Amino acid sequence: MLNIKTLFFTGFLLSLVLSECLASSIAEQWSRVSLPTYSVSSQSIGAYNGGCISGAISLPINGTGYQVMRLSRNRTYGHPDLKHFIEGLGQSVAKQHLGSLLIGDLGQPRGGPTLSGHRSHQTGLDVDIWFLLSQQAANRTLAFNERETWSAPSVLVGQSDTLDYSQWSKANEKVLEVAAQLPEVDRIFVNPSIKRELCLTHSGHGWLKKIRPWWKHDDHFHVRLKCPKDNKYCQSQESLPPGTGCDADLAWWFTEEAKHPTPSKIPPKPLILPVLCDKILKQ
Ligand SMILES: [Zn+2]
Repeated sequence: MLNIKTLFFTGFLLSLVLSECLASSIAEQWSRVSLPTYSVSSQSIGAYNGGCISGAISLPINGTGYQVMRLSRNRTYGHPDLKHFIEGLGQSVAKQHLGSLLIGDLGQPRGGPTLSGHRSHQTGLDVDIWFLLSQQAANRTLAFNERETWSAPSVLVGQSDTLDYSQWSKANEKVLEVAAQLPEVDRIFVNPSIKRELCLTHSGHGWLKKIRPWWKHDDHFHVRLKCPKDNKYCQSQESLPPGTGCDADLAWWFTEEAKHPTPSKIPPKPLILPVLCDKILKQ
């Protein structure tokens, strides 16, 4: 006979499955759209993990100091501020002969949820950048095939917390330092071991505040820009806590609790996009 506990658990599982199905069918609609909407001014709408963008533009696949990878994914779109940021960072990287930035995903043509890879990247203000600063790519244009098949190497030794110094270098530190100091950058997600390293090598530097430890992120860093000026429907994330974040908060990331979090008993909130995004999807 079914007892109340079993019933509750089955209900919980069912709501989990249903909300996952719903989320993936919404993501499918957004991923099928191949072109952005036209808009006089680009508008990021909603939250980084629940929103969209009108008037997105595509980042050119080659530029000074950078090349875009995984072109088949069609995730080269974003707000003009994001394009401007990547181009500026590429120019700094080229000027300092650090190699070439390899750019992963920006967003989809109209933003929105993706079928794979991310919860965020929905408003055209997020970009993934590989830690691999390729000297090869600095000297020649990569072929389509190379952009599909090269992989982003981890900067950690195996699955450990130790940095692999054959992959991690001062050049990586420099890129993060330059990026974090730009006023349009809201925060940058990196693996906790990277944050720990930067806290040691750049102790007390104010820009460390923007470098946020997060799970994975050992083969790329994720830059999130602030809501652009005059984008009144863009929803900012909560402000960063004061200080450089090199304290107890960072230590938590190396605890058992952080490494093996117990699955939450609360089902994830269903993905609800702003009503405006509906219109953008259907245009
Ligand atoms: Zn990302």
